Amino acid sequence: MRSIRYGEADRILHLYSQDHGRLGAIAKGVRRVKSRFGGRLEPLFRVQLIAHEGRGELVTVTSAETVEAHPGLRVRRDSLERATQACDAVLRLLDSAEPNLAAYNLLCHELQLLDRDAGAATRAQALAFRAKLLLAAGFAPELAACASCGEREHLGAFSAAAGGIVCPGCEAGSFPLGEEAHAFLVDALARPLAEYPQASDRALAQADRAIGETLEHHAHVRLRRVA
Ligand SMILES: [Zn+2]
Repeated sequence: MRSIRYGEADRILHLYSQDHGRLGAIAKGVRRVKSRFGGRLEPLFRVQLIAHEGRGELVTVTSAETVEAHPGLRVRRDSLERATQACDAVLRLLDSAEPNLAAYNLLCHELQLLDRDAGAATRAQALAFRAKLLLAAGFAPELAACASCGEREHLGAFSAAAGGIVCPGCEAGSFPLGEEAHAFLVDALARPLAEYPQASDRALAQADRAIGETLEHHAHVRLRRVA
């Protein structure tokens, strides 16, 4: 996810792993011309690593094989920005060593999609990813009925404190969430990542706010809004 220069030739790596969640690592000699790691330990690579635990908090990488290099992300600025945003959201939201296979797979799919499909670098796609990340992290909002009283009709507002959409009787502290934004969130959660729904800018802004306020209220994480 991130790679920081360290000392003469080493790098400190922030990894998100399948089996150990968030992981810090050190790769020694990686910046030497003849490093056995080549360029594989750069951000946005999916790699298979062998590492061993030392005395400190960082594991030491001893070998790295490329699984996916995602070359498209390095030649298209829009795709690169979306991919970096996706990694940043995962780093901020999932900061423990607990594995989360759903989040790991979701991020792998997101990077693969952005790498292969130049047209996927859109606001709608980025928000669909974020909605699914919310679900993977255990913070998905209630979207089927009023989060406060269970009413199933006239649901036109969203309250992060209540935990989802709300009816007019329960709308204290809420903001308006139109039908289109509501449908966008429902579809984004239900469909595969590559079949992300489309919506107007107005609806996307409402969906973004619903996701953002849910994260702030329940996960105490503030992410920059998706432009
Ligand atoms: Zn209600």
